[in-house]
Amino acid sequence: MKIAMLNCLNANQVCTGAGCLRAFNSRTKHFAEYGDIPLELVAMARCNGCGKGIDEGFREKLDRIVSEGSEVCHLGVCTRHGEEKKECRTITEAAAYLEERGVRIVRGTH
Ligand code: SF4
Repeated sequence: MKIAMLNCLNANQVCTGAGCLRAFNSRTKHFAEYGDIPLELVAMARCNGCGKGIDEGFREKLDRIVSEGSEVCHLGVCTRHGEEKKECRTITEAAAYLEERGVRIVRGTH
């Protein structure tokens, strides 16, 4: 099964991707649902930053997630400037864009 991840660029400032990859490789946290199903990580993308919305480059990334055959896209934790943890509008719109193209969305990685 082909899996993609989409994470917040703010989080990326302190993120190596290690937590996501550990959970992916060990089938724990939000990847536990897959059990023994063989998984292939085909994309690990980030948004283009606050205030940019789904610009041309971000749309290109989302289209690549689709064209790589991703069946599921996991969303990383998205926070707005350290405020209450809630999904920002850009990621909500990106998730809807992917869902409209047949990619199932799972909110969470680890
Ligand atoms: S809060 Fe939203 S737009 Fe800002 S960096 Fe995170 S995911 Fe991207």
